[in-house]
Amino acid sequence: MAYFHSYAHVGIHEEMIKDRVRTETYRAAIMQHQSSITGKVVVDVGCGTGILSIFCAQAGAKRVYAVDASEIAVQANEVVKANNLSDTVIVLHGRVEDVQIDEEVDVIISEWMGYMLLYESMLGSVITARDRWLKPGGLILPSNATLYMAPITHSDRYSESIDFWRNVYGIDMSAMLPLAKQCAFEEPSVETITGENVLTWPHVVKHLDCYTISIHELESVTTRYKFKSMMRAPLHGFAFWFDVEFSGPAVSPTNNHTPSSHVDDNPLDGSQRKKRANPNEALVLSTAPEDPPTHWQQTLIYFYDPIEVEQDQLIEGSVTLSQSKENARFMNIHLEYASGGRSFVKELVMR
Ligand code: SAH
Repeated sequence: MAYFHSYAHVGIHEEMIKDRVRTETYRAAIMQHQSSITGKVVVDVGCGTGILSIFCAQAGAKRVYAVDASEIAVQANEVVKANNLSDTVIVLHGRVEDVQIDEEVDVIISEWMGYMLLYESMLGSVITARDRWLKPGGLILPSNATLYMAPITHSDRYSESIDFWRNVYGIDMSAMLPLAKQCAFEEPSVETITGENVLTWPHVVKHLDCYTISIHELESVTTRYKFKSMMRAPLHGFAFWFDVEFSGPAVSPTNNHTPSSHVDDNPLDGSQRKKRANPNEALVLSTAPEDPPTHWQQTLIYFYDPIEVEQDQLIEGSVTLSQSKENARFMNIHLEYASGGRSFVKELVMR
């Protein structure tokens, strides 16, 4: 399958491992939860090169099942051997859905997050692992995830792809504008923006609790958004980003999480947001524009034409993210915008 084939190449693993924000937050989370890992059985869902499995072995795990369906599992096994960890880390080359593990596990660790959190996401496989093997009261790292969106202004990016055509070596190539807009903005764009591009506090699109979420809940996610722009600016579209938290199983045994409480009236300052979201000092891996960049960057959905918004103007509508029927790894995005007398729908496919 092409998806697993792509993970056989070294480049994709190199990119992830060189993302220090990602890899060091995972390592810190493993060390923070060391008392729940020492002497325990761990499964690493999608182990890749085996790095997280080895961190868990270093934290004192009794046994780590390192599972990956890609050919990279062969390398993971070599890395484990070369580090004299073959007695602890058992590499299983196969899909989490298919491999056999003949005991219950205390801990599930996985780096499953995709662009825009849910694109190509393998959270479904983490849920499968949880339901197949996790002991009651076991630990899942990360424990929960939140997808955010916010309206953005990004004139530089817009000019560089669009306004460029207005004067090309002195030639008016405005005739190219419709095609340029179509090509530049028909798909979501993965790029790094900064806090300065963001017009106001983010909205929570979806909060996922890895302990309780079902596969069914992931098929389609809909939210209504309502922002009040903090400044007068051309609105170019929306940015999406996520964070994941590494806390213990006690966070929300029922469905009583409070996703909105930590954004609505909350400054974009990362440290404050983290404190509010984390009364228990749980570590957070954030991909927000105001935090250090990661290989996930942010995902942008541009309008074909900017909309001038005034300070305090409402920006309203809804967005639906759903798994494509044609390919479960693709994501369909349905964006509705209706405010200030303007309304339109934008349909995108992330493939
Ligand atoms: N844990 C590694 C790799 C993360 S990338 C690290 O942190 O560096 C995700 C990995 O999950 C890929 O190697 C991919 O092949 C694997 N994967 C995705 N879905 C899977 C499934 N259903 N079963 C087994 N492996 C899977």
